[in-house]
Amino acid sequence: MPEFIPYSCQSIDDSDVAAVTRALRSAYLTQGPEIALFEGEFGALHQIEHCVAVCNATAALHIACLALGLGAGDVAWTSPNSFVASANCARYCGAEIDFVDIDPLTRNMSVAALAAKLEDARSVGRLPKVVIPVDFAGLPCDMAGIRTLADEYGFRILEDASHAVGAQRDGAMVGSKYADITVFSFHAVKVVTTAEGGLCATQDADLAQRLRLLASHGITRDPARMVGESEGPWYYQQVSLGYNYRMTDLQAALGRSQLTRLPAMMQRRVELAASYDAKLSQLPLRLPARIAGAESAWHLYAVEIDHARCATPRRDVFERMRAAGIGVNVHYIPIHLQPDFRQLGFADGDFPAAEDYYRQAISLPLFPALSAAQQDRVVSVLHECLH
Ligand SMILES: *Cc1c(COP(=O)(O)O)cnc(C)c1O
Repeated sequence: MPEFIPYSCQSIDDSDVAAVTRALRSAYLTQGPEIALFEGEFGALHQIEHCVAVCNATAALHIACLALGLGAGDVAWTSPNSFVASANCARYCGAEIDFVDIDPLTRNMSVAALAAKLEDARSVGRLPKVVIPVDFAGLPCDMAGIRTLADEYGFRILEDASHAVGAQRDGAMVGSKYADITVFSFHAVKVVTTAEGGLCATQDADLAQRLRLLASHGITRDPARMVGESEGPWYYQQVSLGYNYRMTDLQAALGRSQLTRLPAMMQRRVELAASYDAKLSQLPLRLPARIAGAESAWHLYAVEIDHARCATPRRDVFERMRAAGIGVNVHYIPIHLQPDFRQLGFADGDFPAAEDYYRQAISLPLFPALSAAQQDRVVSVLHECLH
């Protein structure tokens, strides 16, 4: 049996182990110095003023929705081609969730579909309060286009950049220019990992304050933010309802160490994506789009089987590749087709572009340690499966 090649794999080296060990032997395991340093370094890299590190991106999405004022009676819209967390965050707040279909080329939320749906929503008085575009596979959405619509229709933008650490478009780092709040994930399969971990980033100081309170019980130790006088140096107040969504110092130490290697890890992802492009160009596949001015983080390399040119069903390709030890995966089952969303009223055919994409999609292995020989094996097995 040949060695199994996973679709994604974290890269942990001795410097990561040393960084976590140092934090583990320090005076602080939880709210120590590493967290603020990680937030500062992450913000500097992405040119974003305020960063709030939290325990995972799902928690980050939850408090981002709350900070943007989403609640019962409100509506949020996201992309159906995403992980369920992009939609659940609105439901946690008691808001209603709806979706905007994708652009088949980029597989991101279609700005044209968004514009059309906004026009309809305005006519029935049901505009969304928050729109949650997702940078699928690490390719930044057309955020300039979405910002224009946000200014016209008055919604807030929560960008789910869980796939897109380090990505940029038209010279702007992801999260730096258009969104009100941008969320990143540091789950082990993502571009940079803290094992579990997430972060909310914003250029708005008030939103950042709100996010900090929400991530830590709604408690402040800052006398300037208290109701009445501080009662002494021990004193703290809960000024609003919050959660314990904090990141640990151990995770932040790992994140800081990972960030120092981000350029090298990204470089390797870019090289591997380019070599997939070249090696797969003759196969009956639709490859990830190349958008002028966009630099994807290449979290995923997802291809679509072109059934006009290839009779092999996706399921057969998937099963044969798995049997050959290639850890292919599928991203994503459209969120609205999950049973828990169908019970809200969603059905087959609601978002046809996302459904078409899902029927043909396969994610191929892509991670910094994937060797040229392993990639060649992926390509040759795929070649056999499609012929
Ligand atoms: C991974 C992921 C999340 C959730 O991230 P966690 O850190 O695992 O909570 C949310 N949205 C998208 C698009 C993701 O890929």
